[in-house]
Amino acid sequence: MSAGGSGDMTQPVARFEDLVITYPSARGSLKAVDGVTLEVVKGEFLGLVGESGCGKTTLALTLLRMNEPGKVTGGSVKVEGIDLLSLDADALRRFRWEKVAMVFQAAMNTLDPVKTVESQIVETIVQHSQETKEQARAKVQGLLELVSIDPARAKSYPHELSGGMRQRVVIALALCLSPDILIADEPTTALDVVVQAGVMRTLKALQAKLGVTTILITHDISIMNGTADRLAIMYAGKIVEVGPTQQVIADPQHPYTQALLGAVPAIGSGTTVVKGIPGSPPDLISPPAGCRFAPRCPYAFDRCTKEEPPLVGDGKDMVACWLRTK
Ligand code: SF4
Repeated sequence: MSAGGSGDMTQPVARFEDLVITYPSARGSLKAVDGVTLEVVKGEFLGLVGESGCGKTTLALTLLRMNEPGKVTGGSVKVEGIDLLSLDADALRRFRWEKVAMVFQAAMNTLDPVKTVESQIVETIVQHSQETKEQARAKVQGLLELVSIDPARAKSYPHELSGGMRQRVVIALALCLSPDILIADEPTTALDVVVQAGVMRTLKALQAKLGVTTILITHDISIMNGTADRLAIMYAGKIVEVGPTQQVIADPQHPYTQALLGAVPAIGSGTTVVKGIPGSPPDLISPPAGCRFAPRCPYAFDRCTKEEPPLVGDGKDMVACWLRTK
């Protein structure tokens, strides 16, 4: 399937094709990603959403070939036409940071506590490019300004910054070699809602200003409203719904997407009742036959437990549910 974007953003920058990623475990092989086909459109802001363990981080990390001990056991992944599975160690080292960079969730773990912000950015640029220390140092001010940090804070150590500022520094670090794709893995976890909103605004502004394709991984669908252009919803290693954000949030088609949205408190609605999603995701070592959401789905019927629903639609709006195809 081709899940294209909206407006003039139609050129794919990355493509997962029938991708399978398998992890070894004492009980047997576990397919964390199982047959995912998805295009990421150049310049878009894509939200990859699902509960913990659904495969969203594993899928995104494939763009950096950072799945160890997991292995790609089926399908392919390409960035700008380059088959990532064919890259040797040298090519892969150049590819990371320059083409695809990652913002990890725990900023304090990403930053070296005994080095200043400036020295960490300079070190990264020098290690991964031909630039000198002086050239790298000249870039620091601009990078900090990009993420709305006063350049005077370049000489600060991580512990001298607030949680939100540290996360912005990590974003600046990820941008230091001007990657085409920026992956942000739960970048607002552990931040309060006000700081969280500020980090999301920064990521959105960077997408608009730099044209950087942004993939944001989250379990919290509510933070995507007003930020992501498109959402891809994952459940138990598979994509179950893809579509423009406003459409998915206003009119979710897949029962799992509906359940995710039902689990979000409705701000200003006057109600505090939040529906949890009953049950838990399946064991991916021996997932159920048919639709993997069937044991938790209030609409499940006979066919759901026997046949797996394919992801179908017009390329823009895709859903994997028998209710949509029967
Ligand atoms: Fe529910 Fe069946 Fe649709 Fe799966 S295919 S989400 S079980 S209705």
